[in-house]
Parts: sequence; C-alpha cells; structure tokens
Amino acid sequence: MSRYYQTTPIYYVNDAPHLGTAYTTVVADALARWRRIAGDDVFFLTGTDEHGQKIDRASAAAGLSPQEMADRTASRFVRAWSELGISNDDFIRTTEPRHHSAVQAFLSAVNDNGYIEKGSYEGLYCVSCEDYFTEGEAVGGNCPIHGKPLEWMSEENYFFKLSLFEQKLIDYYEANPEFVRPLTKRNEALGFIRSGLRDISITRKAVQWGVPVPWDPGHVFYVWYDALINYATAIGYGTDQERFGQWWPAVHHLIGKDIIRFHCVWWPAMCMAAGLEPPHRIVVHGWLLVGGEKMSKTKLNQIDPVELAADFGADAVRYHLLRDVTLGSDGDFSYEGMVGRYNADLANNFGNLASRVATVVDRKCGGVGPAPRPDSKLAQAATSLASASASAWADFAPQDALELAWRLIREANAELEATEPWKMEPGAAVDGILGDALEVLRLVAILVSPAMPTACAELWRRIGMRERLSDQRAPEALEWGAYTAGAAVEKGSALFPRRSS
Ligand SMILES: [Zn+2]
Repeated sequence: MSRYYQTTPIYYVNDAPHLGTAYTTVVADALARWRRIAGDDVFFLTGTDEHGQKIDRASAAAGLSPQEMADRTASRFVRAWSELGISNDDFIRTTEPRHHSAVQAFLSAVNDNGYIEKGSYEGLYCVSCEDYFTEGEAVGGNCPIHGKPLEWMSEENYFFKLSLFEQKLIDYYEANPEFVRPLTKRNEALGFIRSGLRDISITRKAVQWGVPVPWDPGHVFYVWYDALINYATAIGYGTDQERFGQWWPAVHHLIGKDIIRFHCVWWPAMCMAAGLEPPHRIVVHGWLLVGGEKMSKTKLNQIDPVELAADFGADAVRYHLLRDVTLGSDGDFSYEGMVGRYNADLANNFGNLASRVATVVDRKCGGVGPAPRPDSKLAQAATSLASASASAWADFAPQDALELAWRLIREANAELEATEPWKMEPGAAVDGILGDALEVLRLVAILVSPAMPTACAELWRRIGMRERLSDQRAPEALEWGAYTAGAAVEKGSALFPRRSS
C-alpha cells in the first residue's frame, strides 16, 4: 500500500465559494476517491487561507474583525464542500495555532540554513495578488491578473534567497519530467525559472494580520509564504515529525493555472531551503469560464455551487465539472450545457440502462439477478474499457475515465437493443444477456463512483451487491464476472429524472 496525499489550494476568505473553487475541490475529491479504490492510504486536505492585507482591509470595510470575517467565510466553505459530497480528511485554517507553529518552525529552518536576509524593498504591488510585479509584467500600470492599478510599495523586509535555487530547480525539473503536469504548464514554470529568479520579500511590516516572524516580532510573514506551508502543517510539520515523515513528499497538489509561480517555483525552493524534498507532483488545471470569462467577484458572474447542487443534485454537478472540462485546459460553464449533459448522459444513457435492466429482470427473472457469461461480446469490451478507464483515473484524466465508462454504458445499451430480451421467453438466453448487463452496471458503479459517489452507491445497492462499494479495490474488483447471481434486483425510481430545463 502506498501513501497518496491530495491537496487543493486553500481558498482565500475574502470570497465565498463559487463554481471555480468548487471545480478545483471536486477534481481533487475525485482523484482522492480513485486512489482509495486503487488501494492507497489516502489523506485529502482542503481549507482556507485567512491572513493578509486584503482580509484586513475587507473586514474593516465590513465592520468586522479579520477573525470574524475568516470564521464566517470558512464556515461557508465547510458547508459548501459538505453539500458537494467532498471527502476531505482535514480542513485546515491558517489562523489555527497548529499552523502558526508550523510556519514559524518551517521559516526558522530556512533562516537557520542561511537562506533569509534582511533588506529593503520597493516595487509595484497588487493587493489582490499580495505580490509585486515588475514594470515589464504590469499591463498599462495594472495587475496582469486582476487588471487593477498596482500600488508603489516600499518597506523593510526579510528576503528569501530564491536566486540561489535557480539551478537546483532546473536540475529538479529535468530529473523529474512529470513533476508538473500537464507538459505545457511544466514548460511554462521551467521557462519562468530559466528567465532568472530574483530574491523575494517574504515579510511585511505594515501588515499585522499574519504569522509573526519569530526572530523579529515587528514583522509578519507575507500571506503567500504562510499559506503554502499549510500543506506541511496538516501532516504534522513542527508538531509531529514522525507523521510528517510518513506523508511527505507523497503529496499531489492540484492548483489553478493562475498560481503556478507560487507552487511550481517558490514552494519547491522553500522546501529545499528548509531541508525537505520538493512535493512529488503538481497538477495544474485551467480556468472554469462562464460565458468565456473568468469568474470573479467584481464581474458578478459567480455561480453558487450549493444552489446548483440543490437544483441538479451534487452528483450531477460533479459529473458535469469532471466530464466537460479537460483537466489542464480551460472549460466553459453554462446552464444549458449542464442540462444537456444531464439529459444525454445521466437520464438517457446511464439512468436508462439501470432502469431498463431492473425492469426486465423483474419481468423475466422474477426480480433475481442472473450470472454474467464469462466470454460474451460485452465481457471483452468491458474488460478493455474498464482497464482503460482505471488507467485514465490514475493518470489525472477524469474526463477520459468517464468517457470510457460511458462507452461501456453505450455498449451495454446497444447490446440490449440488438437482442431485445424483453421480447424473449424466460430462459438461459435472457439470463445471459441480463447477467452481462448487471455486470456492466457493477463495473460502471465502481468506475464512476469517484465522480458520483451517492448515485453509484444507490445503484450498487439496487443491483443487490452485498459487500460495500467503498470496499472495492481495483484492479481485482474490475475483473469481469464478480456480479453475485441470485441477488434481489430492485427497480426503484429513476436515478436521474429527465429535466425539461
Ligand atoms: Zn493582482
């Protein structure tokens, strides 16, 4: 059994959960769920990023203390992820004492190793990014990410000697070609490193809402530095070194493409500076666009994922996000696209197969599921499609994993249409056809469960499987023929009732 540690970025508490953060969290959840099926020991972390100037300013504007604002928004994230069926093992908040201890221990190690020095800094600063930009990076004096005017900032800071890690990072990238996925994003990060790294300011004096610098308490660590360390805090850095050693560096960070620099350049360098190995893998996803535009608070095109889940069901929202966005590329969300995908894939294909099989088993087999045939046409197709779908899950390609599972669903539907068991007399031929179809439903329930855990558990129960779905382990459970004949098959109501809009 190997260990698999999955993270999402921690979400900044100036903004409520929206479909963009839901997308990241659903993808991470599905990857973690697949790894549990694959037999790994999994630890899945998400949480909230609660320090920094932006929270300080926003809370003051709202008449709240920064902690009150953080508490309110963090609880909204906890609720949203619960509504979306997210299976995180921990929820970290950067204002927790365990995180303050870890940040101070981590950066003291970096300081003790000689990679921090005092200096003064001035430059163009974006409050939303909490980051400096060069004149070349600014777009007409504005932040290249937020499009808002940059402010000139000048202060006494501690600096991390990032420049010393330029060659070490290049060497690490070259020795570990899969470190950042997909390849286009890996090349983007490597290109940035090769263009030359400057030392970076890691503390703020003007800001109080942060983790104090242990050797100079008038300063706090810059929010981004503090935030990245959450990945170490949650597995015991600075508080439980034995536990930390069990999980690090088996970490898989899932991030959006707008935070590549922080995760693919600074973070591995910070780990090296603290005497740790860099994270095992960073998977970068694109943006989820709405009508071709990035979701943002100011553009008012945010969609509340909790409302969407209440409307369509959490499983359907999860399926749409995983199936219609290729991990690594930008995706576009629309309500019409969501309805179309729901009706085509869930109501018509998947739901129809499940209800058709249960109905014919009821009529022709007295409601008792027959055994699958060992060498049918469907058995061959299922064996290769299930194995390809499992490989796609393992290779961070949920869209392919689901498409392959749907090919299997379509094959099974086509086989039923070709043979029409509902027109046949009860007997061995009907039993074989329906046994095969039930076996396909069993395989599909396993393969699709990382995306739609609730519906798949319900299907699993209805086809009469006795062991628990969550106890199934790939690849053994994906071998053809494990459907237990003789079980009662339940018809039940439609898994995915068709929607008119
Ligand atoms: Zn910005």
